[in-house]
Amino acid sequence: MSFEDTDMDIIEEQIKKISRMLVNAKHAVVFTGSGISVASGIPTFRGADGLWMRWNPEEVASIYGFKRNPAKFWEFAKELIVKAKASPNPAHYAIAELEEEGVVKAVITQNIDMLHQSAGSKKVLELHGSMSYVDCLECGKEYDWEYIEEILKKKQPVCEVCGSELLKPRVVFFGEPLPPDVLSEAMEESRKCDVFIVVGSSLVVYPAASLPEIAKRSGAKLAIVNLEPTEKDHIFDAVAYGKAEEILPQVVEEFKRLRR
Ligand code: NAD
Ligand code: ZN
Repeated sequence: MSFEDTDMDIIEEQIKKISRMLVNAKHAVVFTGSGISVASGIPTFRGADGLWMRWNPEEVASIYGFKRNPAKFWEFAKELIVKAKASPNPAHYAIAELEEEGVVKAVITQNIDMLHQSAGSKKVLELHGSMSYVDCLECGKEYDWEYIEEILKKKQPVCEVCGSELLKPRVVFFGEPLPPDVLSEAMEESRKCDVFIVVGSSLVVYPAASLPEIAKRSGAKLAIVNLEPTEKDHIFDAVAYGKAEEILPQVVEEFKRLRR
């Protein structure tokens, strides 16, 4: 048996383990980070192909940088969202299917790309907000993302009411607090779930790092599907290293087979 065979066996075994956990679950919660959207064409922040290799997070993702130079942020947003034209990938659809099957009760995400909703997930807790609305920080005028997106294809959007450049999407920038109601609901879900699955997160950003621990303390079984190891892997009952878009559809298939 070659080394690769052994690797495949390990992943297959972990996939079966996660599927069994789900079959026995009454209330599973999935937590996702930027890794789940890589196959949709949206890069992660950190890592070799990460956005931070080319963009300065202080400039484009902090509230201070934004207020100093909103144009720079919109340049970044254009590359990230408008050009990416992202649509959900098999990992997003697999999670939506598990909700449809009645086992996944909530998705907690750090992503701002709205791809869980596009895939059909109903209960999505967006810890970092989303791009769906854009507010003028000067006069309070609210815009739909679709409207701003059209303008962005041609130029930097400015407020049509007051002329301000400070148009800010409802996402959480560095230096801003998380939306307290969403955070407390995410904590509540982590406490009451019996299975907690992490997908595509390095688990270094707060509260990503603490939610699996809350779930574990409350007695939940823990699983993680991630391309590379994290510092928290030792607290997980099942660990599947690989691409979410390949592993999660297999989990769903096995889940359905076991349920039959
Ligand atoms: P991270 O960049 O710290 O970690 C992403 C993890 O995903 C890495 O450990 C990587 O190994 C893994 N990964 C990469 N490709 C994968 C794949 N195909 N399948 C499974 N795993 C894969 O991301 P984070 O922990 O989510 O934190 C970064 C912050 O960046 C988050 O707060 C998030 O809001 C923000 N962000 C969001 C988006 C988005 O909305 N899509 C994109 C970039 C960053
Ligand atoms: Zn305005």
